[in-house]
Amino acid sequence: MREFAFQMRMPRVVFGAGALRQVRHEVELIGAERALVLSTPGQKALAERVVGLLGPHAAGIFSEAAMHVPVETVHAAEDAVLRVDANCLVAIGGGSTTGLAKAIALTLGLPIIAVPTTYAGSEATDVWGLTEGARKTTGVAARVLPRAVVYDATLTRSLPVGLSVASGLNALAHCVDAMWAPRADPVNAALAAEGIRALAAGLPAIVDEPAGLPGREQALVGAYLSAVAFASAGSGLHHKICHVLGGLGLPHAATHAVVLPYVLALNAPAAPAAAGRIARAFGSPTALDGLQALRRRLDAPRALRDHGFDDSLIPEAVEAILPVVPANNPAAVTAAVLDRLLHDAWEGTDPR
Ligand code: NAD
Repeated sequence: MREFAFQMRMPRVVFGAGALRQVRHEVELIGAERALVLSTPGQKALAERVVGLLGPHAAGIFSEAAMHVPVETVHAAEDAVLRVDANCLVAIGGGSTTGLAKAIALTLGLPIIAVPTTYAGSEATDVWGLTEGARKTTGVAARVLPRAVVYDATLTRSLPVGLSVASGLNALAHCVDAMWAPRADPVNAALAAEGIRALAAGLPAIVDEPAGLPGREQALVGAYLSAVAFASAGSGLHHKICHVLGGLGLPHAATHAVVLPYVLALNAPAAPAAAGRIARAFGSPTALDGLQALRRRLDAPRALRDHGFDDSLIPEAVEAILPVVPANNPAAVTAAVLDRLLHDAWEGTDPR
């Protein structure tokens, strides 16, 4: 076995239907008195509910969180923090809202309580990202890791099935890619495998019964495990490819959903132990069979051309991906391999 050093900082997790009512206790536990509640404009009513629950610890609401964490929004939110003299952030929403909290924490150092309402998993990682113009910057910093996460599946019932599937497949991509990412080890592989099991059970249940809680709870558990595995193992080939495609303007979740089977088809033959583990987690003869059966069941996005990707951009994408391919990627990755992978993903052909 390869030598490894596993180290993981994990936030405290409070889980349960109705757990949102714990939010005041969580703020008190970290010794904060004044929380600024963050949300998107569409989830402002939820932020107001949090303010009610926080009682005297509510310092105000900033409800302008936006996709990709624009730097202007971060500055406006930082002004709000200073204006209301907040010493803690409560982020209620998806990865974009958690991302805003992380960007504020990066500069102002405020602790975060995260209340996720999607399956993005950002709440369990120390990875931050923000966008200035067309340029996305990401990094890792201990101070952006939330101090506590409140998982209340009742809050995810309003997430439309399409968005649930997309963010759930994003979490699944964290798990699969963690199997061969730069710091992959037996500990994060165990978390990733359990994450695959939970998501493969939870996501079809959400499609069948969007208002049901059991599927949504499974998906939240899977999202958490996926994020812990991802933060520990680092970005593998799949995330490197999606990051470059995201920079070319492709939508985050759909890109992950489309690209994953192509990376799995490329790496699985060169990583039989990881592939076997993924296959067992899916309960399927092969890893790719398991993933494709789940994707069919969920009617997942199939081709990059359906999501605004022009194949004339493939050479530019290949050039940007090649230098960031992880050195330990199981399969050899050349410009020709990437070119074929992206053409296949653009067209939505069967992965080979
Ligand atoms: P999102 O946060 O952008 O939310 C999408 C939309 O859904 C928003 O309008 C939001 O208001 C709405 N929404 C959220 N929850 C809802 C609910 N329960 N009911 C109804 N509407 C709801 O989407 P996301 O997929 O959660 O996050 C994607 C972002 O997260 C990306 O920018 C990605 O880069 C980032 N991300 C970061 C990490 C990390 O570790 N840093 C991990 C995963 C994703």
